[in-house]
Amino acid sequence: MTDNPAPKSFIHEIVEADLASGIFEGRVHTRFPPEPNGYLHIGHAKSICLNFGLAKQYGGKTNLRFDDTNPTKEEQEYIDAIKEDVRWLGFEWDAELYASDYFQQLYDWALVLIGKGLAYVDDLTQDQIREYRGSLTQPGRNSPHRDRSIEENLNLFERMKAGEFDEGAKVLRARIDMASPIINLRDPVMYRILKASHPRTGDAWCIYPTYDWAHGQSDSIERITHSICTLEFENHRPLYEWFLQSLEVYAPKQIEFARLNLSHTVMSKRKLLRLVNEGHVSGWDDPRMPTLSGLRRRGVRPEALRAFADRIGVAKANSTIDYSLFEHIVRDDLENIAPRAMAVLNPLKVIIENFPEDKTEWFDVDFYRHDETREETRRLPLTREVYIEREDFEESPPPKYHRLTPGQEVRLMHACLTTCTGIDKDIAGNITAIRCTYDPDSLGGNAADGRKVKGSIHWVSVDYAVDAEIRLYNSLLTSEAGETDGEDEDDLIASLNPDSLTVLTAKLEPTLSQAAPASRYQFMRNGYFFADPQDSVVGKPVFNRVVGLKDSWAKQHK
Ligand code: ATP
Ligand code: MG
Repeated sequence: MTDNPAPKSFIHEIVEADLASGIFEGRVHTRFPPEPNGYLHIGHAKSICLNFGLAKQYGGKTNLRFDDTNPTKEEQEYIDAIKEDVRWLGFEWDAELYASDYFQQLYDWALVLIGKGLAYVDDLTQDQIREYRGSLTQPGRNSPHRDRSIEENLNLFERMKAGEFDEGAKVLRARIDMASPIINLRDPVMYRILKASHPRTGDAWCIYPTYDWAHGQSDSIERITHSICTLEFENHRPLYEWFLQSLEVYAPKQIEFARLNLSHTVMSKRKLLRLVNEGHVSGWDDPRMPTLSGLRRRGVRPEALRAFADRIGVAKANSTIDYSLFEHIVRDDLENIAPRAMAVLNPLKVIIENFPEDKTEWFDVDFYRHDETREETRRLPLTREVYIEREDFEESPPPKYHRLTPGQEVRLMHACLTTCTGIDKDIAGNITAIRCTYDPDSLGGNAADGRKVKGSIHWVSVDYAVDAEIRLYNSLLTSEAGETDGEDEDDLIASLNPDSLTVLTAKLEPTLSQAAPASRYQFMRNGYFFADPQDSVVGKPVFNRVVGLKDSWAKQHK
């Protein structure tokens, strides 16, 4: 992990001011509070890096707290995946905690509020509650049950807990102010009846706390100092504070920051779950998914995600980050660690007519030409027939074309200089092979007389080529708007990119047949590739393209 401190944000300023004033006795204690209703995505990575990063920077602690208050949507599989992903990102929590561990305490505190006349049992239906709530321009109306006596409320609430009422028949509400300009203060619901079995508490409870009732109180129990959340919760802050003040308990400080929105993808767990359930992707770890498990499977390193989080910083206003910025950072991260090798994705055969038929010329080539401290080499064979990329040959090239074209000398990287002398075509006029001659005095790639060529292209010997499955990825959505593209989920399915995955069989230089699963390479001129950790085996590699070498969103310049 990098030792450079992350750039300072307004949250850092707040924490430093609080350390200076001593309001939290000089402590910094953050938490990362995922709901285990799906896998973590790159947006969560921003929150993780922020919460764990602050604690690390100021010598504090971070809890991993599962916000497991909605048993109908939560699963153990998600809890396990979340833990794996946080660790993979490079962070270790000080305590693993569950909001469900506080169900008894929350219940006892609800009794305290009822006892103070600050909570009541309501019989209105969900729809009626919404209707009575009013709007931004209209005050709400009091429920006819708002003035029940403390005794009646205690009795009804106990019976709610005992399972005497059906789902939806009753709720517990805070008794605040139905005319408050802050809608969240118009008697928000604290408990609803859910006759669902909970992964951790089983059938012990049939009333479950709402987010608002559970969250701040959990923060208080854990003596969190800074409760950092996304901007949508800004107008929940008055309620967060009201509960803690009414209970007269320790109060953390809630701070909101702008969530990460990325172009060309979706980040709501609900929408991602739909893509998984309907088979639009192969699973939560499909390399096209913005999930941490998808990015990991694709070949992105945690270093890149941490660098991305530092780079985008923390702001108070929502914005959408272009996906190309993320790719840029992934590319930067891999540039210095990935050994270079050659792979031809779309092969065209080249016959070097003056190269002896039964001869192999071997070259020892650096794996890490870009890194002088690493000396590992690979053996690269040149034979009479080689593959080049179809795109690297033009019969009638545009001006300033530096690759292979009749009469123009180019370099086969690391091997020799060669000139195109002819083209083989089938009866339909399709090119089937290129004929060339090579300069025997240029072995290794440079002419003996020092003459220069403008183009260097990659290639693979036909005799030694290894076939490999290659998976190329494109953005998940065609629409740039991504997440902010309205809430209509059918829009989401309609804007899925039909070309988000291309599978091809490529020709690799022979050393790559030995690639270890989960190893990374730069395939020269084609991008960064990752031997799929599940499908690749030594001898039969399968590679995922992590990212191309240039910005695929910018206009392509050839
Ligand atoms: P989603 O809408 O994707 O389900 P969520 O906010 O419901 O997200 P939680 O599991 O409740 O997901 O989130 C855990 C933490 O991660 C919260 O503190 C939340 O604010 C933060 N978080 C979630 N999405 C983002 C995002 N896109 N950018 C930054 N932080 C995020
Ligand atoms: Mg949520």
